[in-house]
Amino acid sequence: MYRTHTCGELRSTHIGQQITLSGWVKTIRKFGSITFIDLRDRYGITQLFFNERMNALLEANPLGREFVLQIKGAVMERSNKNANLPTGDIEIEVSEYTVLNASETPPFTIEDNTDGGDELRMKYRYLDLRRDAIKRNLELRYKVSRATRNFLDNHQFMEVETPMLIKSTPEGARDFVVPSRMHQGQFYALPQSPQLFKQLLMVAGYDRYFQIVKCFRDEDLRADRQPEFTQIDCEMSFVNQEDILDMFENMTKHIFQDVKGIDMQEAFPRMTWEYAMEQYGNDKPDIRFDMRLKKLNDIIKGNGFPVFDDASLVIGIAATGCSEYTRKQLDELTEWVKRPQLGMKGLVYVKMATDGTIKSSVDKFFNEDKLKQIAEFCEAKPGDLILILAGEEALTRKAISELRLEMGNRLGLRDTAVYKPLWVMDFPLFEYDDEEKRYIACHHPFTSPKPEHISWMDDESKYIDIKANAYDLVLNGTEIGGGSIRIFNKALQEKMFSALGFTKEEAIQKFGFLLSAFEYGTPPHGGIALGFDRLCALLGGSDSIRDFIAFPKNNAGRDMMLDAPDVIDAKQRKELGL
Ligand code: ASP
Repeated sequence: MYRTHTCGELRSTHIGQQITLSGWVKTIRKFGSITFIDLRDRYGITQLFFNERMNALLEANPLGREFVLQIKGAVMERSNKNANLPTGDIEIEVSEYTVLNASETPPFTIEDNTDGGDELRMKYRYLDLRRDAIKRNLELRYKVSRATRNFLDNHQFMEVETPMLIKSTPEGARDFVVPSRMHQGQFYALPQSPQLFKQLLMVAGYDRYFQIVKCFRDEDLRADRQPEFTQIDCEMSFVNQEDILDMFENMTKHIFQDVKGIDMQEAFPRMTWEYAMEQYGNDKPDIRFDMRLKKLNDIIKGNGFPVFDDASLVIGIAATGCSEYTRKQLDELTEWVKRPQLGMKGLVYVKMATDGTIKSSVDKFFNEDKLKQIAEFCEAKPGDLILILAGEEALTRKAISELRLEMGNRLGLRDTAVYKPLWVMDFPLFEYDDEEKRYIACHHPFTSPKPEHISWMDDESKYIDIKANAYDLVLNGTEIGGGSIRIFNKALQEKMFSALGFTKEEAIQKFGFLLSAFEYGTPPHGGIALGFDRLCALLGGSDSIRDFIAFPKNNAGRDMMLDAPDVIDAKQRKELGL
């Protein structure tokens, strides 16, 4: 028997018992002729005490960190109790030990605050996974998946696996492709999501489907994205948008209750896409704090200040309690908005001091009355600092939205322990892609337009105004899920493909199977997919999904441990016809 107990199990109630433990040597502390070792396994840490006799054996055959050890001994009361450790009241007086396996000195310390850099820890991920911090994250991930499955199972959802080797279909991102040996010159694609399969399962009458499933997207990896990631993918038949929002709001609440003990009693607020863009400058507003955007065009233009007069958008925010910002801080903020990522030309400020006096960087152009009017419009109170950006509409809206988040960070308004979910709804059906010079689907090509906008599908000039039955679940400024009510009518689906620039032949070549399925009794249906890794990271109070994935890739999409991607040998290439 390797062990009678785990390293996290023994308490003062066990004092006097003879036990056997197995685990890894975490730390070795020598005090003259005695030694203490912390033994670690998945369940915890137990202190081992080697008396003089045992210590002499240790001296003869020294142990090192991460050796795998089996020990036998007696549970004793500890004189120096450690209240921070569940096993801190006891220690084991070791009477016998066996080295089950030796270990090289690990390349970094296996501690919460390790000395190992990111890349090194990814190369030795199996050692990194031994760290408590990562282990806790994976435990949390498992809890989230268990809570999700329980909820969905209780609501008649059935998990169905869908294939990983599929056909390359335009769904928004770039596909990863896999060459076929048996059909040389042809390629499978890895799914960007099981979108079409879940719709076909609805055609097949499965009514409620879910899958916790890997998805693959070959995108340039912006901050904290992974080329393969996991979704909680769901679809339902005979439902309208309200049914779906209701179901998945309840699922989210269930997960928070089950995993974090947080009771989200209130209904999630809902906001149209248009309102979110206007008030927060983006479609995933962080509503943990207010600081809404104030469009100043009407009150600020025509005062002879060319920067404002020439801009298509002049927009500001009032940062609470920041009127004391120094010249240096303001210069630094100005540089921040001028970074290439935001590309602003400058930053205008209006300070409303606590005594109510107003000062600005544009005093030359705006008299006190005008500045007061601006301050009032921005709902600034004494002590606030109004920050104003001006320029081209889309660019400026994005920049002010980023600036709002930055000020939120600086003011400590984005507490990771506070959770503020909301639904963003009524997204546009299309957006215009300037590079491709065509309309693309905002969500994906299977999303239905609002019934009252269906007739606009015949008029290209109206495309941009068509709203979709699409919704996103947003949490703390992050999109954690998105879905839509689907098109379930063949003629409308064909119209959609044509609006997206597919010829009839291309549509049949790419999506023939879907169009054909739509001829055999398709129920009204809709669904949603939640980003599982991201949800776990948010629940864990982190903004890095990597820390919640057992074997992640680095920012360049590389697996540092496997050293993948890698070249394949000539024989393999030949077999594949490459
Ligand atoms: N398949 C969609 C996505 O991955 C989600 C959905 O529409 O259900 O974004």
